[in-house]
Amino acid sequence: MRKKIVAGNWKMNLNRAESIQLVTEISKKIKEIDFGKNRVVVAPVSVNLTSVVENKANDSRIEYASQNMHFADSGAYTGEISANMLKDINVGITLLGHSERREYFNEDDALLKQKVDQAMANEMEVIFCFGEKLEDRQADNHFSVVASQITNALFHLDSNNWKNIVLAYEPVWAIGTGMTASPEQAQEMHAFIRNLVKENYNNDLAQNVSILYGGSVKPTNAKEIFGKEDVDGGLIGGAALKAEMFAGIIEAMQ
Ligand code: PEP
Repeated sequence: MRKKIVAGNWKMNLNRAESIQLVTEISKKIKEIDFGKNRVVVAPVSVNLTSVVENKANDSRIEYASQNMHFADSGAYTGEISANMLKDINVGITLLGHSERREYFNEDDALLKQKVDQAMANEMEVIFCFGEKLEDRQADNHFSVVASQITNALFHLDSNNWKNIVLAYEPVWAIGTGMTASPEQAQEMHAFIRNLVKENYNNDLAQNVSILYGGSVKPTNAKEIFGKEDVDGGLIGGAALKAEMFAGIIEAMQ
């Protein structure tokens, strides 16, 4: 059965000491929370990943992710990080396709497909982010935009790769804006996505893939959103930078 996941994307925030302090505080706050087989992931900025991963005070249930990864093994790609480098520091998960990567770094479906393939070749788990812009929703194109983002980057994969895929639906208009999708809007899209996966693979695979919602999730709205049948937790930006709020969102994952 699929697991729920709360993943925190720290984006380009926090220096080394602040990163260690935050993971330490999160660890303290979640000590008493029994989230069973569900999962908690944090994604610090890459330069601080090692320090955060190796911090002695961490709750051992916390997992670590990179915010991005390159498609090549190594070589002349100034400023980039490879799957091998991440695995070497015990990071086996990467976000790919976050809307900020798409928007500011021109990452398109073709590039993301290459990155996904590289992650699969290295047995890395991918939290694959996608979602429509406000103008897509206003034009009633949100389902077709989401379908093409998923199809172009993921539907060439063999079904056995899907054990390493987590989907994260993040409507761009809801990221960092305080404009959360309603639980009904999230459920409607998540059911559509799960059905798309079912049509392209099979029902078993579709039932086992975790589909996270991202976009202004807070402790105050998490329970209702995560309570929807096809919403399997969240990808959290702003609220992941405050231990109290992140712990509150983890508590909502039952
Ligand atoms: C995100 O950046 O993935 C995100 C969901 O941000 P926020 O929670 O701040 O909307």
